[in-house]
Formats: sequence, structure tokens, C-alpha cells
Amino acid sequence: MTAPDDSRCPCLSGETYGACCGRFHAGLAAGGPHAATAEALMRSRYSAFAVGDAAYLRGTWHPSTRPDHLELDDVTWRRLDIVRVVAGGPFDEAGVVEFVAHYRSDAGMGQVHEVSRFVREDGRWFYVDGDQPG
Ligand SMILES: [Zn+2]
Repeated sequence: MTAPDDSRCPCLSGETYGACCGRFHAGLAAGGPHAATAEALMRSRYSAFAVGDAAYLRGTWHPSTRPDHLELDDVTWRRLDIVRVVAGGPFDEAGVVEFVAHYRSDAGMGQVHEVSRFVREDGRWFYVDGDQPG
């Protein structure tokens, strides 16, 4: 599953998918471009959930915490809100992104609220793990 390059990016940046998260999804296999900041990686991982790109999710998961298998939930991702960003810039080694992701499933509307940790290695950002605040 994927999304047309000229469709609205699922992360709701206002850009097209091809100009926003889609270029990172394509860049995983092509060797670039890669997300330059932890927030950009977070957005692209949310969009990967939205378009069903499990390979991108595994490829941007740090090897120390990457699951062997990744089953994507059968939900429709509706919106991503970035709540807080700590570091995670192009010259940082680590970063934290707090977000709320909204979805709709057969059971109704729901949301995931997580404080995610990211690290940058060899010029690429990786998702490490996250906590549910509160
Ligand atoms: Zn995007």
C-alpha cells in the first residue's frame, strides 16, 4: 500500500506526499534522502503507518529495539499533533518528540499519546522507544 505523490501528505504538513514524507519513504531503499530531524522522522513514521509502509517503520527503528515482526493495526490514521520537541536537530545526537496521533477504528475514535526517543547515527535518525505520559 502507498499513496500517490501528488496527494496530501498524511502528516498534514500542507505539502504533497511526494514532497514531504513520501520522499523519505522512497529514500529508504534508494539510500536517501533521509529525514534530517527527529521531528521529520516522527512525521514520516506517522505517515508510514497511514499508508501502510511497514518496511519504512522497521527501517527507521533502531536495531536495538526493532521488533522482529510488525503488524500494522487495521485503523485509519486521521491526524498527527506534534506536542513538544526536545533537541533532535540536524546536529544533535538524540531527540525527543511528544505527539498525539488520532485514528478511527471499528471501535470508534482513538488516540496514541507518546513521548518518543530518537537517536542519530551515521547521519540518520532512528526511533528508539517511547513512553505513554500520564
Ligand atoms: Zn509528511
